[in-house]
Amino acid sequence: MSTQEQSATEPTGRHSLDVVVVGAGTAGCYAAAAIAQKGYDVVVLDRKTKDEAGHIACGDALKGADSFPDAIPKSQLEPAFTNIDVDHGRFEIPQEDTVLEIPVPGELAVIDRWKYGKLIIEGAREAGADFHYDTVVQNVIQADDGRVTGVEAIRTGSPQRYDAEIVIDAAGALSVLQDTIDFAGSTFDTNVTYSQFCSAYREIVHVEEPVEWSDALVFKPTERAAGYLWYFPRTETEINAGLGFQMTEEPMELVDDLKRDLRNRPEFEGAEVEDKLGAALPTRRPYDSAVHPGYMAIGDAAGHVNPTTGGGIAGAAYGATYAAEQAIEALETGTYGEATLWTYNERVMDHFGARYAALDVYNILSTAIDVDDLMSLLAAMPGDKLAEALYSGSTDIGLKLKAEALYKSRDHLDTIWTLYQTKRRADELLAHYENYPTHPAALDHWQERRDELMQAVYETTGADPKY
Ligand SMILES: Cc1cc2nc3c(=O)[nH]c(=O)nc-3n(C[C@H](O)[C@H](O)[C@H](O)COP(=O)(O)OP(=O)(O)OC[C@H]3O[C@@H](n4cnc5c(N)ncnc54)[C@H](O)[C@@H]3O)c2cc1C
Repeated sequence: MSTQEQSATEPTGRHSLDVVVVGAGTAGCYAAAAIAQKGYDVVVLDRKTKDEAGHIACGDALKGADSFPDAIPKSQLEPAFTNIDVDHGRFEIPQEDTVLEIPVPGELAVIDRWKYGKLIIEGAREAGADFHYDTVVQNVIQADDGRVTGVEAIRTGSPQRYDAEIVIDAAGALSVLQDTIDFAGSTFDTNVTYSQFCSAYREIVHVEEPVEWSDALVFKPTERAAGYLWYFPRTETEINAGLGFQMTEEPMELVDDLKRDLRNRPEFEGAEVEDKLGAALPTRRPYDSAVHPGYMAIGDAAGHVNPTTGGGIAGAAYGATYAAEQAIEALETGTYGEATLWTYNERVMDHFGARYAALDVYNILSTAIDVDDLMSLLAAMPGDKLAEALYSGSTDIGLKLKAEALYKSRDHLDTIWTLYQTKRRADELLAHYENYPTHPAALDHWQERRDELMQAVYETTGADPKY
């Protein structure tokens, strides 16, 4: 291991490090901070300029804002928490002329995402990680036995080579690194297509008068299925307004559709748009395996996003620290194979991956169900139970509530039956993910049973297979 005092960078454009992290988002910064804190040489490469780094398309809503991994503690990020008064979701259902106020379990905040982005970079830098901006990674280097041993990039126009014991891919949704790696013979999940992602766009909008719902995250279904609009108040007068749709669907005109909704809301009259950004985000189950010899994918690059809410910051931060711990073990033992890195997969599934895989079942259902039907049914459901279902992937409704909901929604009995059956399928899947294998050799067998359970999901929901 080289020391922190020595520069890892050689003037020749060839760099030799313990760990190369690609991407200076939440996942990359947390992984880099955790590894650098142990004294290892880490460089974070990002294609953005130093000024633009941390400027990332986001709804700015942070669920689980009460806890962050120690590598960059919450106290360091708090200056970016612009609204900590949000405590519930406000679901607007125009078809039913209904607004549901739904409590959200756990701590919530709305943040200034760019400021937060700068603070996590600062946190990783203070921990000892180096940052190379304006550096576009184009290729991953592999040894003859398939192990990843570095990356090639263009840095401000000149070719660079970064050799490393471990490469961590934190390059976000549909990471280009994965297109260049030969994953033959490893467990790394390659069953990934754009249709398992959502295309999303947001504007930061300034309004003159404080909005009445500054303590709520506002959601509204888009006119077509499998999409929603959001209005998240950064402050009483600065709103993150956005929308997204599943890429299985006909593309939406994101900019125009948002403009139309904004125009119809009186609170946005005379509003000014301060910033615009769009991106893809994974709305799928986590990768079955995000490891390959010498390489791990984290954050969006491994599908670590709640597929029903699109929230990915918490998964990126926690998954990154689990990957960092395996990278450290690999460096300490000099073993870089899947067997050493595997614990990372297990910890992700144990913490949030199993839950996200179960929630994905409802996403699949949403592509097959009639949106009006679903909305009128939701309007009849008890709000706290809906919240539980949305975040835990499962809920139990008492007999009396069931009877009330059934009476109110008697016109939608088919949909209720489908929902009930879908919940059973999601519960079975959750139970299977809770038995995620403890060794790479057992993955095939586990996948076979999981695929059988997914077949039952498609049959129950009537949806086209997603994987
Ligand atoms: C519109 C939108 C709204 C969202 N809203 C929310 C929300 O409200 N709450 C929430 O929790 N999550 C939200 N998410 C999801 C959340 O933003 C992501 O899950 C999270 O940012 C993932 O972090 P990451 O570090 O994995 O990836 P990213 O934050 O995407 O970081 C990836 C980094 O890699 C760099 N990079 C990519 N390719 C290369 C390359 N070839 N070479 C060098 N650098 C490269 C990029 O420049 C970028 O800095 C939203 C996502 C979108 C798109």
